[in-house]
Amino acid sequence: MSGDEASIHLIRRATLVRSDRLTPEQMPEEVRHLVFHCGDADFAPRLGQCIRILAPGQFGNVHHARLYLVADAPVERDEGVEFSLCVKRHDYIDEFNGERYPGVASNYLCDLKPGATVEFQGPVGYPFALPVDRKAGILMIGMGTGIAPFRALIRTLYELYGSWEGKVRLFYGAKTGLDMLYMNDENKDLAQYVHQPTFKAFKAVSPRPALDAPIELDRAIAQNAAEVWEMLQQPETHLYLAGVDRLWPQVEKALVAAAGSAARWQAVRDQIKASGRWYEVLY
Ligand code: FAD
Repeated sequence: MSGDEASIHLIRRATLVRSDRLTPEQMPEEVRHLVFHCGDADFAPRLGQCIRILAPGQFGNVHHARLYLVADAPVERDEGVEFSLCVKRHDYIDEFNGERYPGVASNYLCDLKPGATVEFQGPVGYPFALPVDRKAGILMIGMGTGIAPFRALIRTLYELYGSWEGKVRLFYGAKTGLDMLYMNDENKDLAQYVHQPTFKAFKAVSPRPALDAPIELDRAIAQNAAEVWEMLQQPETHLYLAGVDRLWPQVEKALVAAAGSAARWQAVRDQIKASGRWYEVLY
């Protein structure tokens, strides 16, 4: 077993430093930004990776394990590492009795108070890497809580380099309040990093959220199809995808339309994957 594999199974502990609600109080959806501190010297999560939260188990199970994306570039602090998660409070309707039940891990996390300790494993998965060439295009497509690592990627990019010469494009979609993540009245922080000539963000929401209508990410891509296709064909463009995977078929359909045919899209897609410029965390 390699060092990395061994570290995936290690149970670590982190303390909650703060928990902020990102969606406005009047929105039914609750998404929280949680900041944790872990004192393990060998714990170094990176953007694009996940950690496996071990919530208290139910029905005789010791743990209820669920994955969460690292939402911010981790910061070394107080002889350890501070990292954050962006968590949506999840509930579901039981098919048999029609009752609404709270999701175990997401509610456990959203209810945590500062000072509480969580157990977790990881990091797992492959980190996002930035292109070496500053003229390279960066295309990000994020859905729901998937926008969280992109916010950190954009911030890292402009903080690290001051400016980026290639095009940086973010398409993000959500059903209702989620589209306001990091951009609502209380939290305008993404806006601090977007005053850059190379950056543009395109928001897609559901036209009829109450009726569970699909998010129009495909429409946002279609409206910018020429630019998206031009970027995808550039040999240096990096493509980053993150968020709920049920939206992926809709996104891929829009990319096929932008390419003009499935064959053209597949050829470009295979090229991006083969040259290591494709990053995805879909769930
Ligand atoms: P659970 O208790 O596990 O319930 C979830 C689902 O299980 C329900 O919707 C339902 O379909 C089913 N279910 C469970 N019990 C029953 C039952 N009795 N009857 C019927 N159905 C049932 N989420 C985030 O908020 N932020 C992230 O950054 C994030 N990153 C992720 C990254 C990856 C790679 C993956 C795979 C997932 C990610 N998730 C993320 C989702 C997260 O891991 C959890 O799946 C989510 O929070 C729900 O977990 P839960 O324990 O709250 O719900």
